[in-house]
Parts: sequence; C-alpha cells; structure tokens
Amino acid sequence: MSYSDYEVVIGLEVHSELKTKSKIYCSCSTEFGGEPNTHCCPICTGMPGTLPVLNEKVAEYAIRAGLATQCKINKFSKQDRKNYFYPDLPKAYQVSQYDLPLCYEGEIEIKVKDEVKKIGITRIHIEEDAGKLIHESGEGSLVDYNRCGIPLIEIVSEPDLRSSEEVRAYMEKLRTILLYTDVSDCKMNEGSLRCDINLSVRKKGATELGTRTEMKNMNSFNFAVKAVEYEARRQIRVLESGGTVVQETRRWDEAKGITVSMRSKEEAHDYRYFPEPDLMPIVTPEEKIEAIRKTLPELPDSRINRYVGEYGLKEKDAELIAASRSMADYFQAAAHKTKNIKGAANWIITEVFYRLNEDEKEQASIPFQPEFLAEMVNLIEDGTISNRMAKQVFEKMWSTGQTPSTIVEESGMKQISDDDELSKLAVEVIQKNPKAVQDYLSGKQAAIQALMGQMMKITKGKANPKKVIDLLKDQLAKLN
Ligand code: ADP
Ligand code: MG
Ligand code: ZN
Repeated sequence: MSYSDYEVVIGLEVHSELKTKSKIYCSCSTEFGGEPNTHCCPICTGMPGTLPVLNEKVAEYAIRAGLATQCKINKFSKQDRKNYFYPDLPKAYQVSQYDLPLCYEGEIEIKVKDEVKKIGITRIHIEEDAGKLIHESGEGSLVDYNRCGIPLIEIVSEPDLRSSEEVRAYMEKLRTILLYTDVSDCKMNEGSLRCDINLSVRKKGATELGTRTEMKNMNSFNFAVKAVEYEARRQIRVLESGGTVVQETRRWDEAKGITVSMRSKEEAHDYRYFPEPDLMPIVTPEEKIEAIRKTLPELPDSRINRYVGEYGLKEKDAELIAASRSMADYFQAAAHKTKNIKGAANWIITEVFYRLNEDEKEQASIPFQPEFLAEMVNLIEDGTISNRMAKQVFEKMWSTGQTPSTIVEESGMKQISDDDELSKLAVEVIQKNPKAVQDYLSGKQAAIQALMGQMMKITKGKANPKKVIDLLKDQLAKLN
C-alpha cells in the first residue's frame, strides 16, 4: 500500500463569533465569561411569546467578511429554523440560514511552499450560537446560556484543500482577514473561532469524491493539522484493507492522538429547515453593499504587494509585517515619517519581533509611537547616531517610552561627525601607531582596522565610522 497513491480532499466549515456588543436577537451582552446565566433574557433563552429582532450589525459584519473574501452578496436573504433537540439550545431550534445565505461564491488565496492557490468559499451565513453544557462530576450536567444568541458567521469552503499544510494556511489566512475586517476577535481559546473538518480520500486521478467524515469543533490550528493527518491515513488504511469509509462525525482525541467515532449517518439529524416566521427577510440594496465595502481596510495581500513594489521590502518581510493589521498600520505610520522605509521595516522584524510574543505581535504592543521609530531611523540616516548606538537608544525607548532625541540628548550618545575634530584625532592616532601605519603603507589594507579601533577607543565608540575610514585614508595617503 502506498499513501502517495491517494489524494486527500478537505472542506472546512469555520464558525466565527462576531464582535458585536449585543447578541443577535436581543440586547444582552456578548462579553465572554461572566457568572453563568447572567447575560440572558427571555429572548435568547427562547421563552414562548418572545419575538427576536435582528441586530443590524450582524448582517453588516457578515457582508463585510463576504466582501473581503470576494463573495457575491444576496440582496434578498432570509433566515431559517434548523431544528435540533439538545439541552444547550433552549428553543429546540437554531436560527440559521438555509437556501439564501447573505454571501456566496467567494475565494481566498493561500500560499503553501511558495505556490499560490485559490480556495473557493461556498457561502457565508449568519446564525446564533448555542449555550454551553458543563459536566461537573457528581453534580450531573449544568448549562450556561450566556453564549446563547451570540452572533456567528459560518464560512463554508469548497472541498478544495488537499493537505494539512493547506488547511493551516487557509485557517491562518481566514483568521487574518477576519481580524483585518474587525468582525471577530478570533480567540480560539475562547471559542470565537472554531472549525469542522470534512475529509475524504480518493485514488489519484479519480473524479468522484470519496465518502467523508466530519471532525467537529476543532479549536486549535495544531490539533486541526494533526487530525487531518491522522484521519487521512486512517481512511486510506480502511480502503486498502478492503473496507469502506463510513460517513460519520468523529472527534479528535488530543491525548491519544487519534480520531474516534461519535455518531454515524444513521443517527444524523434531520434538521427540517423552514423559513423563520418571526424574522423579516434581510434586504440589502446595492448602495448599502457599497457603503459597507467602503469600510473595508486595505487587505493583507494588497499591502504585501505594495510593501514589495513601493517600499522595496523582501516578500518574506512584507508578509511578516502584514500578518497583523495592527503591526502593518504601525509600520505604515512609521514609513510616513522616514525616507529609509526598509530601515524601519528591519527594526520591526528584528528588534521589535524579538521582544514580542505572538499575541503582542498581533496587537502591535509596542511601548512607543511609530513616529519614535521613524525618528530613530532618521537619526541613523543623518549620522547623529551609529547603528550600534541606535541599539542602545532602542533599548531605552522600549523601557522608558522616551523619544529617541531625548535619549540621545540626555545620554550624550551623539556620534562625532565633525570633520575637523575627527581629522585631529586621526593625525594623533597615526602618530601613535607607527607599526599599523607601516603595515598599511606596505600593502596590508586590513591594518587600517587597528587604527580605526584606536579611534573608537579614544572617542568611546562615538566616532562616525564611515567618516573615520575616509579621514584615515586621506591622512595615510599624505604619508605615501
Ligand atoms: P453538510 O450540510 O452535511 O455539512 P455540505 O455539503 O454543506 O454538508 O458540506 C460541508 C463541507 O464539507 C463543505 O466545506 C464541503 O466542501 C465539504 N465536503 C463535502 N463533501 C466532501 C467530500 N466528499 N470530501 C471532503 N469534503 C467534503
Ligand atoms: Mg457540516
Ligand atoms: Zn438576551
């Protein structure tokens, strides 16, 4: 048997909690956590006789996500009841969208091993989140309805993904877009971004899709990658041993590193969707769609192209900076204030990134304004400080938040660039180091470094190194 005879086919259903202040059909808070059952009212707990009213922001955010993923927007969209009976959902149905979702037929570009690939987005629809069951030992099961009615978008992809690497790249890209468009905080540990993985395998060259399994509620990129790799191999082994893959829901068991069957298709829900009678259709005229389009920020792909094309950054560096909107905005603000934009980018990629963890990078948690970074780069450019001094200035900016010029002023860190002053010192150093001078004059170019070292020593490292080399060469030429 050879795994390489098979192709893995994956489609994702990603759920993302929207960042609205209030819930989808009532004015309860969407804030995460809180004492159980304190962010609830008769509407989000589905009491008989209550009437839901759609929070307008929900449709707006969903459309924004749709536009950012090249989707078409349904100007006439409606909501539907999806019936299921489970204690996390007190109404016994979830309001979702069935045949007329807000957004459809989009795509996202991903890059894996330098190859760009388009992944189709089938649809993006809105729905309400369910509550949370808490199984406490000895106390039976408890339920917290705070999460009930938190607005979600579900982003369904075409079965276009072919490997765990592509799954990771897709999820990362989607997360970046949702963060850029500011529709979700995408905190996987708080459940605001989670995905169901549909996976099947087929012999290479086959045109029909194989039978798929679905792994629900993956809330970590790493788990998703491991689950894909395990499940693909499992299905191939089943087929190779003459069996058939059963269409079923499986669960990723992180401790054991395997997927396990939860329920088969025979037990699958019959959702009996029907149009939600208590809610109006969502009508979005062209002008409204265009108004929402105007609220979109410049997206990461466009920024990367611009950073490479206009600013001359390396593609990899542009990607690192554009990975977070906050960091990209910070960089752009610095770029406006300096001619040496590449220099500013380098400081971000090296010294800034070195000091931040992933979350802080995403938030661009930098203890000083972007203008300060630009000012420091400018001080290097105009010869006021050397690169080495700049490292110290940067360190001080980080710990105190002071402006670079204040730091330079107070520490007397100024580079000596004055020609007369440096010439005098060069003459002095040449007189005191006949051996190095002799070596240089007899052809050992490297001997100039010894003289340079002496210059740095007597100026305590403050001499402008470019000038020192030129002046030393001038003086030595006179001796020849
Ligand atoms: P359901 O309504 O049962 O969730 P859908 O047809 O809406 O099923 O598909 C859900 C997801 O599963 C989509 O992302 C789709 O691309 C993916 N999918 C469908 N069939 C397959 C298959 N045979 N192999 C892999 N993924 C699939
Ligand atoms: Mg599904
Ligand atoms: Zn409520």
